Amino acid sequence: MKKMNTIDDFASQFERASDKSLRRGELLSAHAFFRIGGPADLYFQADSLSDLRTIVLLSRKTGLRHAVIGGGSNLLFDDDGYRGLVIQNAASGIVDSPNATLIEADSGTPLEAAVEFAAARGLTGMEFLAGIPGTVGGAVYGNAGAFGRSTGDILEYALLLGWDGSETHVTAGALEFSYRHSVLKSRRDVLLRAGFRLALGEEREIRAKMADELALRARRHPVRGAAYPGSYFKNPVLSDGCRQAAGYLLEQAGARGLRSGRAAVYSGHCNFIINEGGATARDVRALAAELKRRVFEKFGIALEEEVIFLPAAGPGA
Ligand SMILES: Cc1cc2nc3c(=O)[nH]c(=O)nc-3n(C[C@H](O)[C@H](O)[C@H](O)COP(=O)(O)OP(=O)(O)OC[C@H]3O[C@@H](n4cnc5c(N)ncnc54)[C@H](O)[C@@H]3O)c2cc1C
Repeated sequence: MKKMNTIDDFASQFERASDKSLRRGELLSAHAFFRIGGPADLYFQADSLSDLRTIVLLSRKTGLRHAVIGGGSNLLFDDDGYRGLVIQNAASGIVDSPNATLIEADSGTPLEAAVEFAAARGLTGMEFLAGIPGTVGGAVYGNAGAFGRSTGDILEYALLLGWDGSETHVTAGALEFSYRHSVLKSRRDVLLRAGFRLALGEEREIRAKMADELALRARRHPVRGAAYPGSYFKNPVLSDGCRQAAGYLLEQAGARGLRSGRAAVYSGHCNFIINEGGATARDVRALAAELKRRVFEKFGIALEEEVIFLPAAGPGA
């Protein structure tokens, strides 16, 4: 009863203070590439940085459990949904700077829009991000990358909304990027905006490089529209310091053909778990646990999930 009051009080306070409405019981499966996830108590799509700031700060002030998500392309939502408020960041906008090699994007900008923006201006450096779904915020949070390059390599600065409501510009160094990691994973800051340092290039060459990389992806990934969130596990570091493809280890450990309910290892690449239609988070997690068990048994290597599981309840952001 107490919880309902908190939810209702929050909703009426927010709806009174803004002209925006919150959705109740929104199915999170509609917001995840995995197409898995039950209802959230409250859901809000922030279409501007101002909306994002307002709702995050009110959640913090009132102590409402909340999570900021981007495009939902790296997430596994719980079958029980989310107790609290899910804020989907759709604050989108990009500007270029007078010196023409820096572009600045609001964190809810689709990554592919940022890549296209740079290409259209003849700015090179972002081509490796072509084909990675999601938002600029999600890419910075998880230091998304491909072909040996990562988001942190081109990030010049970020504007962060701190837990106390302060806004700080930080340089890339402060975000402590490493393989699929940034300091945002251990702090509760929200990325508001990011500046990327690029270089002058030829649009034709940039587009040719993007096309090559997209073609490589098309060969490796399941068909467009398949329900999966990219690679399930990170590539682990071996004792010689080199990274080994998790897909190779999984294949050697007999992952091909494994399934749990409607979740299955993709036949073309063992590091993809796909929802064949109607899979639950429970199916996916059971399959992932079996995959980890097999790799550990065969190689003594503990795989770590790249996909982020957002539990329905528990300590929240
Ligand atoms: C087909 C496919 C291919 C993929 N290929 C790649 C690839 O090649 N390389 C790669 O690295 N990834 C890949 N991914 C995974 C995914 O696209 C990336 O991790 C992406 O950067 C996630 O962005 P998102 O906006 O969807 O984040 P979400 O999945 O919505 O969220 C991921 C995490 O980021 C946090 N977050 C999001 N926005 C913010 C913000 N503004 N401030 C603070 N935290 C935030 C969320 O809280 C959450 O914990 C792929 C996924 C798919 C479906």
